[in-house]
Amino acid sequence: MTKLKIALQKSGRLSDKSIELIRECGIGLTNGSRKLLSRSSNFPLEVMYLRDDDIPRYVADGVADIGIVGENVVAEEQAGVDTREELGFARCRLSLAVPKSTPYKTPADLQGKKIATSYPTILKNFFEQQGIEADIHEISGSVEIAPGIGLSDGIFDIVSTGSTLISNGLREVETVMDSQAVLIAQPGLGKEQEELLSRLLFRIRAVKKARNNKYILLNAPNDRLEEITSLIPGMKSPTVMPLADPGWSSVHSVLNENDFWDVIDGLKDKGAQGILVVPIEKMIV
Ligand code: ATP
Ligand code: ZN
Repeated sequence: MTKLKIALQKSGRLSDKSIELIRECGIGLTNGSRKLLSRSSNFPLEVMYLRDDDIPRYVADGVADIGIVGENVVAEEQAGVDTREELGFARCRLSLAVPKSTPYKTPADLQGKKIATSYPTILKNFFEQQGIEADIHEISGSVEIAPGIGLSDGIFDIVSTGSTLISNGLREVETVMDSQAVLIAQPGLGKEQEELLSRLLFRIRAVKKARNNKYILLNAPNDRLEEITSLIPGMKSPTVMPLADPGWSSVHSVLNENDFWDVIDGLKDKGAQGILVVPIEKMIV
């Protein structure tokens, strides 16, 4: 039987969320101990646990069919894989930072400077685009301490909140790339693998939609029902049911996380009461 082989990070910032996503897709992973290989009991999926940096290469070479990895690693490894779906977790950015006291206005200020990074390819491409010649110094970890110990004039590294930069006396001056976890695939997947992938992507999209939406229930005075339902149009249109108390209705709908608080404020202003918001497990539209 055909199997789809997926490469996931063995341990690190992507691992737990990658495994959680697969599980939320209803795919049981038999082996929690993350041996090199594990099989699923109810979907033809085989999981390989690897270092994240190796995932694009393994997928490009066809050792794995698909993988979950950060966009930053896809860009750095230049392995020739297709990005098939953005997964919305492990969001971060790759930025240039210099010591607080270093003047900086434009990337041209980095001309001739020495920049330490674990992402030399992405940085080299950025400098080429900008027509800047700088000395890229590749180091594999603790990039943020490089300027402090006199190893470089600046750094190019992953930033999520920026607190690591601040505690090392650095100032973020340029965002070069935004990143999140993505699902990548080998460009020439076979027909059967492609079919399995589309089943998996269907489930992943249902999980993503559910994560971005909430189910909302509220009580609305009938004389303001139209205004209230216009705020929560839902998937098709909201469900409206009469309450035992005359003059009131119960309204059920689906609400997008992004405009959540604005909508809730609007509903309260229009006299909605007893607002309940509950998570959705899967959403198929
Ligand atoms: P490995 O041992 O597998 O090589 P690693 O140390 O290179 O792991 P992690 O630190 O686990 O990598 O990060 C994995 C990915 O998570 C990064 O490539 C990036 O896409 C994302 N990431 C890294 N740091 C953060 C952060 N602070 N916030 C959010 N996402 C991050
Ligand atoms: Zn890594």
